[in-house]
Amino acid sequence: MISTILRAVFGTKHERDVKRMQPAVAQINALEPEMQGLDDAGLAAKTDELRKRAADGEELDELLPEAFAVCREAARRRAGMRHFDVQLIGGMVLHEGTIAEMATGEGKTLVATLPAYLNALSGKGVHIVTVNDYLAKRDAQWMGPIYQALGLTVGVIQHEASFQYDPAYVTPDVRMTALRPIDRREAYAADITYGTNNEFGFDYLRDNMRFSLDELVQRELNYAIVDEVDSILIDEARTPLIISGPAEESTDLYFKIDRIIPKLKRAATIVEGKLSEVEEQKAGDFIVDEKAKTVSLTEAGIASCERLLGIDNLYDPQHIDSLHHIQQGLRAHSLFRKDVDYMVKDGEVIIVDEFTGRLMPGRRWSDGLHQAVEAKEGVRIERENQTLATITFQNYFRMYGKLAGMTGTAETEAEEFAKIYKLDVTVVPTNRSLIRLNNPDVVYKTEREKFNAVVDDIRQRNEKGQPILVGTVSIEKSERLSALLKKRGIRHEVLNAKYHEREAEIVAQAGREGAVTIATNMAGRGTDILLGGNPDFLSKEILRKKGLDPATAAPEARTAAVEEARRVTQPEHQRVVERGGLHIVGTERHESRRVDNQLRGRSGRQGDPGSSRFYLSLEDDLLRIFGSQRIQSIMDRLGMEEGEPIEHKLVTRAIGTAQKRVETHNFEIRKHLLEYDDVMNKQREIIYGMRRQILDGASQADTVAEWMEDMVAGTLDGYAPEDAHAEDWDLPGLGEALHRQFDVRVPPARYEDVVARDGLHELVTDAVKARYAEREQELGTELLRALERHEMLIVLDTQWKDHLLSIDHLKEGIGLRGYGQRDPLTEYKKEAFDLFQDMVERVKGAVVERLFKVQIVRDAPMELPAMTAWARTQELRGEVPGERPGGSPPLSIAASRPAPGPRTPTGEKIGRNDPCYCGSGKKYKKCHYLQQG
Ligand code: ADP
Ligand code: MG
Repeated sequence: MISTILRAVFGTKHERDVKRMQPAVAQINALEPEMQGLDDAGLAAKTDELRKRAADGEELDELLPEAFAVCREAARRRAGMRHFDVQLIGGMVLHEGTIAEMATGEGKTLVATLPAYLNALSGKGVHIVTVNDYLAKRDAQWMGPIYQALGLTVGVIQHEASFQYDPAYVTPDVRMTALRPIDRREAYAADITYGTNNEFGFDYLRDNMRFSLDELVQRELNYAIVDEVDSILIDEARTPLIISGPAEESTDLYFKIDRIIPKLKRAATIVEGKLSEVEEQKAGDFIVDEKAKTVSLTEAGIASCERLLGIDNLYDPQHIDSLHHIQQGLRAHSLFRKDVDYMVKDGEVIIVDEFTGRLMPGRRWSDGLHQAVEAKEGVRIERENQTLATITFQNYFRMYGKLAGMTGTAETEAEEFAKIYKLDVTVVPTNRSLIRLNNPDVVYKTEREKFNAVVDDIRQRNEKGQPILVGTVSIEKSERLSALLKKRGIRHEVLNAKYHEREAEIVAQAGREGAVTIATNMAGRGTDILLGGNPDFLSKEILRKKGLDPATAAPEARTAAVEEARRVTQPEHQRVVERGGLHIVGTERHESRRVDNQLRGRSGRQGDPGSSRFYLSLEDDLLRIFGSQRIQSIMDRLGMEEGEPIEHKLVTRAIGTAQKRVETHNFEIRKHLLEYDDVMNKQREIIYGMRRQILDGASQADTVAEWMEDMVAGTLDGYAPEDAHAEDWDLPGLGEALHRQFDVRVPPARYEDVVARDGLHELVTDAVKARYAEREQELGTELLRALERHEMLIVLDTQWKDHLLSIDHLKEGIGLRGYGQRDPLTEYKKEAFDLFQDMVERVKGAVVERLFKVQIVRDAPMELPAMTAWARTQELRGEVPGERPGGSPPLSIAASRPAPGPRTPTGEKIGRNDPCYCGSGKKYKKCHYLQQG
């Protein structure tokens, strides 16, 4: 009550926002005569002036009125559109890093030019994100002349191609007009870059798999304006971007190594406590340290391996992988026992938890050990696809310095935008008032009756010539309706959001007299539906009828065709307006109110007449699953007859309530996905950050020194713990470990003088440092610094890839383990953290070890192996690791529900794919499962 009064007095937040911006609008308007007075060169020169002022420290906010006025004037001259005042407000909202809700047809494409121009003045680049490649290209070509007049460069990112807007570029294909192919890096270097969320995201991931700076295509993620922001940041946010590839380049090496392992002879074993069985001269190939669970090769062992494998130097960089495989093979054979440490079940090696004795499906030993055990047991080595890089849209877009979005439908999802992206929503008033008539829903008992009513409505309006756009929830429903219309002989078009460019042409004509267009939600989005038809698009049809290819027709023929088209569309526009404009028919409510609003919003643009009506039935998923009881009781009260629809505000409201519940449920799912990704996000940031530093060429000497110290400390703790007496130190074991890790031999006599732990620490540290100094002498400082970076990069990538494989398995396996009442997400976080810690330790160990041992030939270039064969990687969307074929939600998400698993009201366990207990005949996951969320 109070809030209603307050609102009446002070206006809504949106009204206040808009009011706050009025003075700036007035300022921009006041600058208009001055801008109009400039010639083209003078206008272009404004950019340099503004750029300079920005460089000199003037805030973009201060430059806004002038920059907007400049941009508006360029648009008037070059695109034939002068930004309306409300569009200026939209531009300011975007500049502030907020979502601008602006209805369909308000000209959001043009609005984006304002903040894009202003923010590009800083030189850091602006990304404009669209929902498909076609729109990225279209918008760049459409807005290109404005930027070009102002001296800004425009890049376009497409799937597997990139362009620069350049009107001087001639191509016979008009679809590519003014788009000069350039490389991706240049497209990103442009002031403004248009592209889809997928391409931006994948380029980010790919960049973090590159091996040199000049291969990176993106620069800083400065400012993004996301068009159709709700589709991208909400609907698509359920499916992360994944680059995947084979888990192993080849599994042959494991088997090859496995065959030589039995031929190697154990020289000694270091067991718990101290044992000095180890002597340097001891004959044999390898020494097993049971406590540290490591195995090291003796000099003789190295020679044996070289002989057995027929190679001359195991420490040659090209064979260092074999060395690693041998070490893991030896561990697999001498330290890991079947039925104690692991079991073999159905051809799989499953780890037995060493503390609880439980089987741990989904957990894998890392660093090739699991594969070595698989080779030892002669089972198939898993060579499945693994994740090589992945990120959610949430985490990708949160990296931008500033993020803004625009859409016709954001307000219903304001909470999610605020919570996940820290984005506020401001509703910008329409340029002309909306006069579309939204009729209340009508509800039928059965789907059959509903579709009959839909067809009747279509037929009646179609006979009068009124254009109709019918929205469906799926391709299947579109086809069903299409068949019904065919039977009645009603001409129509069907769009499935598959061929964006072609469908854009069809939907552009959805406002023509007598047009009937059936479309799923995303089909043809972004294309303006003009009443009476779109002359530009129609001209193409005219050319085709004349036997000309619109893509290559001569300019004169094209102009003539556009004029001919205008002669058709102008009078037709008038007739369609008289018939009530575009009528929207919804054949089912969608899972969220927002998507319904998107459909309605296709009509009534820019003050056009229009109407909408949704037809529902009690058999629709939404009503059946979420609201049937309530609606049924309303219907009973209202006394519904067979075959007769009801149309009542109460029903509409009940349906709205049902939708809100689904919205909340879906939000929960996205939140869970994000909670899982957040764990990885921190790890990804650390690894990518480090990679970038290495690529930047920063010296890693300090890091390496630090790691060496850590390794020394860790080794000492293993063999001479701080609290142990000197006589309990395991000096022979220590000696072996030092040799293994640092290639250093401390003469046993030196230990004799040492009594205190500090002294031992100093002795060892000095020995290791001295050995490293020797390496520097041998190789030269410059080469050693390069080697450090090189080894770090290789080890980091290998270990990170291995870690991602473990995480894939963890996600899959965690749902299979019983945790009692514990929350799987907590378990996942904990295990993922532990796995990461282990990985970091392995990275340190492996880098240090390699730096001491790798032998390099001077002047030979250091080879960098690709992280994986690029040719075999795949980019995926719509799939999450662990997701089962058939599209059920990812297990990791299912797993995040508190255990125990889902049960029926009578307490029986029920699987997600089982038929629902309510007898609906639907799968449980599509029925009552949702209500339990
Ligand atoms: P939205 O993305 O908001 O749905 P579009 O960017 O597709 O809208 O633009 C819709 C139509 O409005 C286009 O045909 C465009 O040419 C037109 N338009 C936009 N702004 C203006 C303007 N300031 N003056 C004239 N026409 C405009
Ligand atoms: Mg648009």
